[in-house]
Amino acid sequence: MKGESPVVIIRNAAATAKINVTKLRSNVSVLEGSGGNIVVLTGRDGKVLVDAGITASRSQITEALATLSDDPVKHLINTHWHFDHTDGNEWVHSVGAEITAHENTLKHLSTTTRVEGWNFTFPPAPVGALPTKLFATEETLHLNGATLALKYYPPAHTDSDISIEFTDADIIDVADTWWNGYFPFIDYSTGGSIDGAIGAAAANVARVTDKTIIIPGHGPVGNKSQLVAFHDMLVSVREKVSTLKQQGRSLAEVVAAKPTADYDAKWGGFVIDGNTFTALVYVGV
Ligand SMILES: [Zn+2]
Repeated sequence: MKGESPVVIIRNAAATAKINVTKLRSNVSVLEGSGGNIVVLTGRDGKVLVDAGITASRSQITEALATLSDDPVKHLINTHWHFDHTDGNEWVHSVGAEITAHENTLKHLSTTTRVEGWNFTFPPAPVGALPTKLFATEETLHLNGATLALKYYPPAHTDSDISIEFTDADIIDVADTWWNGYFPFIDYSTGGSIDGAIGAAAANVARVTDKTIIIPGHGPVGNKSQLVAFHDMLVSVREKVSTLKQQGRSLAEVVAAKPTADYDAKWGGFVIDGNTFTALVYVGV
């Protein structure tokens, strides 16, 4: 990627971001517009947030939360360590939320972490932003009359990705293992890989039905057929890039061969364009 790091661009844009609120099913809603999608479960145990968006959007997020209910925010779950999901951790904690995450989310937030794909080095997060309730493989929470099943993925987009399933409502947040309608970022610097991403996408397809509401980390809330399309796109681009690389072609030659040409119009409209995605796949095959 050329020029300014996407981290800086996304953080700056968040100050004026508009937050769209959508009620899904039961007492689960989604807030879109500041970093990754934010899921909200309301109820008398206090609001549960899945991911915290970007700090610069605090006032808009606070306003959006107030339209759902008067419940205070009591719980925050991070789907993984990336800034566009954890940047707001500190302020959400400061208003009363306990933060739950996979242990690798704490590991990356606690130390200086370089992400090559973003050309950016993150300093350690402030103490108030750090998750304090940690798990390794699975965790179940009972809040607001709902059961939340948290499950760790083997390394995929990063090595800290989890899914959150609202079992009674048949809603699952699969976080950045799915970008609905967009080429995904893959963070090799903290354990991600194209093969891990494909494995997670296949696991997601296997555990949902046509009735499941599926929340991606980025892009609109979707369904199983869209999830399948994403999985198949990943597999197809991986095969094309792998074949070219095995022929001995350099990264520049593979990018020039446009292995994503069939997919660019549909999937290239967000942060990751076809050339960038080709480069991300090339690293891992
Ligand atoms: Zn991410």
